[in-house]
Amino acid sequence: MVTALGERIETVRAEIARSCGRAGRNPSEVTLVAVSKTHPASVVLEAVQAGLRDFGENRVEEAESKIAAVMAQTGEPLGWHMIGHIQSRKAREVAPLFKMVQSVDSVRLAGKLAQALPEGRELALLLECNVSGESSKGGFAMRDWERDPAAVAGLAQSVGEIAALPGLTVRGLMTMAPIADEPEDVRPVFRSLRRLRDALEQQTGISLPVLSMGMTDDYPVAIEEGATMVRVGRALFGERATQ
Ligand SMILES: *Cc1c(COP(=O)(O)O)cnc(C)c1O
Repeated sequence: MVTALGERIETVRAEIARSCGRAGRNPSEVTLVAVSKTHPASVVLEAVQAGLRDFGENRVEEAESKIAAVMAQTGEPLGWHMIGHIQSRKAREVAPLFKMVQSVDSVRLAGKLAQALPEGRELALLLECNVSGESSKGGFAMRDWERDPAAVAGLAQSVGEIAALPGLTVRGLMTMAPIADEPEDVRPVFRSLRRLRDALEQQTGISLPVLSMGMTDDYPVAIEEGATMVRVGRALFGERATQ
């Protein structure tokens, strides 16, 4: 039986493939992270049945119980991604729960995550960068970085310091684009993040292959601009009651 969710997954996958086609990219380069925030474990399990493996959550308390409930009922290896702002006192709970933390916004937070990581465990990180300059957005403040060599040098230093922490691997960058009437309007934001990644790789010598950018309203444009990870909620699970 093909469920409504199964159909929406197919629609999103087809759109990812079309966007890759326009950009001359291979769809296997793009990981679909299903943003399951506000939705119960039963919905995640349905999505696992339908073939999804990576899930994004933005609140620690919600994720803790949901991940436990889902993992108790599936044998599939799932990847859980933390995509929401983390208060440093919550680092202890976050570190052991997730495969990847995409919302790292300070060296201090990364240090707390490293301290809280169970012995022998590894945690992949993305540095969240605010390249649009919107004050409502979190992340390292990188507006106008192309005209601000000191800002790039500062972030490069942070990348180096975080990469040196035990158990942590910096894999790349994440950003959230502003809400816009037209997806085209946010193309410069995605292009800016990709160029910032290129600049950081050059300055640090550290490989940063992951670009997490693009959500329901703008993931096709993000893929055209080089996204290797898209975080899609509403297009898969429908409108959220909250948040
Ligand atoms: C909620 C959220 C998403 C998903 O947004 P949709 O518009 O539902 O696709 C992606 N990234 C972050 C950081 C989010 O908080």
